[in-house]
Amino acid sequence: MRALKNHPELCAINTATFGFQVPLTLAIEAIAKAGFGGIAPWRREVEGQDVKALARQMRDAGLKVTGYCRSTYIPASTSAQFKENIADNLKALQDAAALGSDAFVFVVGTLANLISARAQVQEGLGLLSQHAENLGVKLALEPLHPVYAADRSCINLVSQALDMCDEIGSPSVSVIIDAYHVWWDPNIERDVVRGGAAKRIQGFHVSDWLLPVTDTLNNRGMMGDGVIDLKSLRAMVEHAGYNGLVEVEIFSSANWWKRPMDETLQVINDRLGETF
Ligand code: ZN
Repeated sequence: MRALKNHPELCAINTATFGFQVPLTLAIEAIAKAGFGGIAPWRREVEGQDVKALARQMRDAGLKVTGYCRSTYIPASTSAQFKENIADNLKALQDAAALGSDAFVFVVGTLANLISARAQVQEGLGLLSQHAENLGVKLALEPLHPVYAADRSCINLVSQALDMCDEIGSPSVSVIIDAYHVWWDPNIERDVVRGGAAKRIQGFHVSDWLLPVTDTLNNRGMMGDGVIDLKSLRAMVEHAGYNGLVEVEIFSSANWWKRPMDETLQVINDRLGETF
């Protein structure tokens, strides 16, 4: 397991951690100044902007782009809408490539009919996978905690995401292990080992699960403030062969989003190697 203490260069910051209070240009500056090694920007910060200029700024700041967030939901109730969703994702995938991002992150969406939703996700990723191969960007499937099965993702387990990668068969499909979503899974170790052996672990995201649970979407905790054994999980992921950056992604409308960026980055820096 790598030593993270005093090594912010092994960490990336997902810009959602700042609650989108500032333009991406300022977030890039702050993250680089604090010594972090990577960044994961969001489409809302990029679309309509000069994508090439943003790519240049991140590169010049020495930041690796670990992921571009995130997909348009794939499943739809009509085939016209499904096609539109795929076209939309293709456009964003091209932006991911222009940004120099390693991956385009898939929060896949869902339907009341989960079986149909999963079939559409598999078909959609299959359609996009050849483009992803050509562009050199991974389609990174992020399984979400089952609390989101009804509204955000029909893929809720690492094993499900890996099964889907196997079905699609393209080297461009991969999986993100987000501690917040998978820490509770009794099979997580088995599935992380499997993902590592298949060379499909594209990213590792950290935040913490706070108690009491008040809001499952925007009340994630700073690493160390909740119940997840993040160090054990990181050891597991790194032992499985993952050697990419550890990405901090904290959705926290009531707390961290109200603090200045520099303070949040300082706290993350202080906790490196201590609580995660
Ligand atoms: Zn995540």
